[in-house]
Amino acid sequence: MDLAAAPPALLVRRHLHVGGEWVDPADDDVIPVENPATGDIVGQVPGGTPADVDRAVAAARAAFPGWAATAPAERAAHLDRLHAALAARADEIARTVTLELGTPLKLAARVQTGLPLTVLRSMVDLAARPAAEETVGNSLVVREPVGVVGAITPWNYPLHQVVAKVAPALAAGCTVVLKPSELTPLTAYLLFDAITEAGLPAGVVNLVPGTGPVVGEALAAHPDVDLVSFTGSTATGRRIAHLAADRIARVALELGGKSANLILADADLATAVKVGLGNALLNSGQTCTAWTRMLVHRDRYAEALDLLAAAVGAYRPGDPFDPATRLGPLVSAAQAARVRRHVERALADGARLVAGGPDIPLPPRGHFVAPTVLADVHPDSALAQEEVFGPVLAVIPFADTDEAVAIANNSRYGLAGAVWSADEEVALAVARRLRTGQVDVNGGGFNPLAPFGGYKQSGLGRELGAYGIDEFREIKAIQR
Ligand code: NAD
Repeated sequence: MDLAAAPPALLVRRHLHVGGEWVDPADDDVIPVENPATGDIVGQVPGGTPADVDRAVAAARAAFPGWAATAPAERAAHLDRLHAALAARADEIARTVTLELGTPLKLAARVQTGLPLTVLRSMVDLAARPAAEETVGNSLVVREPVGVVGAITPWNYPLHQVVAKVAPALAAGCTVVLKPSELTPLTAYLLFDAITEAGLPAGVVNLVPGTGPVVGEALAAHPDVDLVSFTGSTATGRRIAHLAADRIARVALELGGKSANLILADADLATAVKVGLGNALLNSGQTCTAWTRMLVHRDRYAEALDLLAAAVGAYRPGDPFDPATRLGPLVSAAQAARVRRHVERALADGARLVAGGPDIPLPPRGHFVAPTVLADVHPDSALAQEEVFGPVLAVIPFADTDEAVAIANNSRYGLAGAVWSADEEVALAVARRLRTGQVDVNGGGFNPLAPFGGYKQSGLGRELGAYGIDEFREIKAIQR
């Protein structure tokens, strides 16, 4: 399939995936899928209903005892076959993400496709290991799969967010009902094509597309769902936690962020600014871990702003299928309007425009926003406190390390962050003081085995690696 060469025919998916089969939905509601680079409707999926959720949860419940009893090596073999089936679709996945989300194709191949394949590969290896058992006094402590998992995922990394839940849940011995984002459901269908090809046992993974208020709420509130694993906004996470609390069901929440990038006076400024800007603009800034607050020592502040003004030019918004494009559109008209309002408010609040802003010419169609750098952003202002989820970087000066740490921690979020210093020991000491789940020191690379998750309102629990699998386990003590 070459989605770039010509406008594709409508990509229509008509079924849910329940009990190992493609089945008709209960209703004939449909959800259109838009190409955010043009505004054209390019696809369509069913709009699921609570009745569909009931059916999918029943299938997952029925499959649970058998899957939970399957030997770890056999579960790993299933995941290995899934990895192969998914890898065979890598090109189609990248193009589909570009089509329904607008991620530039080169980036979509690397991050939207390569990253979930890497995560799935890591889960194949971890799934083969039996759950750890330990003896504590007269107790044998064992770990068991939690049961049926309701997985609800966002649109910004449509395959990665799904794999980061489904793969560890399956590795732990759980069964799953997935509700992907209604904005990017086509990518999830490619995963289920791979699941079908890999021959996973019937009912182990089920797909019910639909909207959050209908399918998402039905899944989060379902009495037979043991754990709700959610990635998305903090507001929706709060709603899901309320729904799950009614029956004391467990929740794992991966939520928003407003991460700080601390550039100390002795840092390699050119690298820190270049990497920091790239991080903030990744996927048009629609990244939960984006370092959206750049904190720069006053001695290097003017220099950093000059570097930023020059570097932004490389991120010209354009056609995401063009190999030269580094910045695509935002996912929707509503998201683009929200981001523009944030920029206008920041300017009204006294921030100084360094690059971008409302007057930059943009492609005539699609939901584009110019990459924007704002300086002198007050640490208490809306731009420094609220998640924008667009290509907007707030730059804030600081006088010393204590002030930098105080500004970084002045946030209701705590997902990610970065520290740059010529002295790695100093940078590590600062990293330890940040109230956040991940910190990269001097550009330290992404580690798919490291625990991923947030402090404060960025979430509850951890994904990825062995920690990610443990999230889907109960702990039992047997006394002898
Ligand atoms: P969102 O909260 O609007 O939607 C996420 C998912 O929840 C979607 O599938 C949606 O349909 C569903 N949903 C919406 N309302 C619901 C409800 N009332 N009940 C049940 N489900 C409901 O978030 P989004 O706009 O898709 O994604 C952007 C947000 O996700 C950002 O805030 C971003 O920071 C966050 N995010 C966090 C992480 C992380 O790992 N911490 C990763 C990616 C995105």
